[in-house]
Amino acid sequence: MTIEDVIQQAEKAGVELVEFLFVDNGGIIRGKLTHADHLRSRIISGIGITPAMMAMNMLDQLQPIPEMGPVGEVRLIPDPDSFRILPYSPRVASMLCDQITLTREPWAACPRSFLKSVIRQAEAMGIRVMATYEDEFTLARVTEDGRYVPIDKSLCFSSIGMDVGNPVILDIMSALKAQGIQPEQYYPELGHGQHELSISPTDLLGAADNQVRYRETVRAIARQHGLVASFAPKPFVDQAGNGAHIHFSLWDLDGERNLLWDPNDRFRLSELGYQFAAGILRHLRGLVALTCASVNSYRRLNPRSWSSAYTAFGPDNREAAVRIASTFWGNEERSMNMELKSSDSSANPYLALGALVAAGLDGIRNGWHPGTAVEVDPASLSDDERKRLGIVRLPSSLGEAVDAMEADPFFKETLGELLFRSYTTVKRSEFAAFAERDTEFELTNHFYKF
Ligand code: GLU
Ligand code: MG
Repeated sequence: MTIEDVIQQAEKAGVELVEFLFVDNGGIIRGKLTHADHLRSRIISGIGITPAMMAMNMLDQLQPIPEMGPVGEVRLIPDPDSFRILPYSPRVASMLCDQITLTREPWAACPRSFLKSVIRQAEAMGIRVMATYEDEFTLARVTEDGRYVPIDKSLCFSSIGMDVGNPVILDIMSALKAQGIQPEQYYPELGHGQHELSISPTDLLGAADNQVRYRETVRAIARQHGLVASFAPKPFVDQAGNGAHIHFSLWDLDGERNLLWDPNDRFRLSELGYQFAAGILRHLRGLVALTCASVNSYRRLNPRSWSSAYTAFGPDNREAAVRIASTFWGNEERSMNMELKSSDSSANPYLALGALVAAGLDGIRNGWHPGTAVEVDPASLSDDERKRLGIVRLPSSLGEAVDAMEADPFFKETLGELLFRSYTTVKRSEFAAFAERDTEFELTNHFYKF
């Protein structure tokens, strides 16, 4: 889309406000809005924001990062291709933004620019990544005293949950379609009020942008139904967690050949695919600081929760962090994909997808192999067996995940010094802030913000 296309579409639809959105280091979707009369000039020169926004944690506590204080400015420059008229908010459109310095370069702490740099790295290796998030979320009502109560107590995949969920899901699906996002499957999930609606894969930048639109859309439509939707990783202590598994596949640059596919392998996975998985597993203990990015995430990542708790991989193994997904009959090569289970929607999707792919590329560059595929629940193995297979427990807190991220030089190299430092500082501050408060405070804050 050109700038002119955007202006024309906005005018035709009677748009008056345009949201310029970004995702911060705390995983929160934020932005500023422009009146449509100024859209053309704002697309060109952006909307200014303080660099301090990337030093803000999910409690709006500003962290002391020298480059991110009261002095200075970055510009939110929207991507014309990301323009969408919001089907759930009359006369409003949204655009997804890069953070650009006043010298017109991508800011070193800009998550969307980071993801673009990883896409270029992959392309330089002849690889185009396709991906999608597969989100679970909780639908709840708010009581008069401010508590969140799930809208159903339905069993996993139970038709009772469908009766309650269908009307909301139908509206969510049309709103997604109107924004160019193709719904795939829907079902009531295991937890009370928990629902899962999957969407089709797209290119990597599109997958991150779609995750932002998806979170926005689900929340907004639920509100129109008098409900609250939450992507909190563990909304209620006694209920299943909300995962946001990442499905991905690797393609040649023409998008013709699925590079994960090898019909002669036992699991139909190519050597390149094994190497990519090996890179992810090798860096996974630090990677989860980016893919399972909140304090609440670590209530979800437990053994026997189908969320993954170990650095294992296996065919259709839903307790393994990396699952080799079985293919669809009649469409084997095109449907070959892998899934990262250690992922939830409290992540900044640009950072999570960028770091995931960078880790996989690292595996390819080094020619690593992931070892033996695990065909049982890793929690059912003895400590010795896990040790022999090189299977390690994932961090059990955000603090431990950030430790692992700092201990692995790959992350600073990949993210760059400023993004790495600001991210780890923000995450450490969240870990410290929630450590001082009770469980109730943690649950309500994550419920409301994600
Ligand atoms: N709710 C599980 C999670 O936290 C996933 C269940 C499933 O889809 O297998 O990731
Ligand atoms: Mg699920």
